[in-house]
Amino acid sequence: MNIQTRIKFRVDEVLHFFQNKHGKTYKFPKIHYFCHPEDVGMAYPEDWIIEFNTDYLASHPDMMIEEIIPHEVIHLIADTLQKPCESYHGRTWCKLMREFGLKPKAVYEFT
Ligand SMILES: [Zn+2]
Repeated sequence: MNIQTRIKFRVDEVLHFFQNKHGKTYKFPKIHYFCHPEDVGMAYPEDWIIEFNTDYLASHPDMMIEEIIPHEVIHLIADTLQKPCESYHGRTWCKLMREFGLKPKAVYEFT
């Protein structure tokens, strides 16, 4: 399975998990790719877009699939639930990360 297919399956898995939990439909986001070194992944809830760094996808595919893809998808979902005053990695995002079984981390170490 190529990495883009793995990403799609993982995004679907996260969406379905929260769709079942929240009883609502979350649209499949647009997925973009970038290769500047500053970020690993990004989420743009207003446009319902998630982006991933192609260098990290190539060098750390499992870590990206396991942690970073859900991390960014959960930013989209958290944005639909949280109060405007909440921070980006705030209470709602942390709660959803834990519900999905992941540690809510804003920074990751790639070894
Ligand atoms: Zn984040």
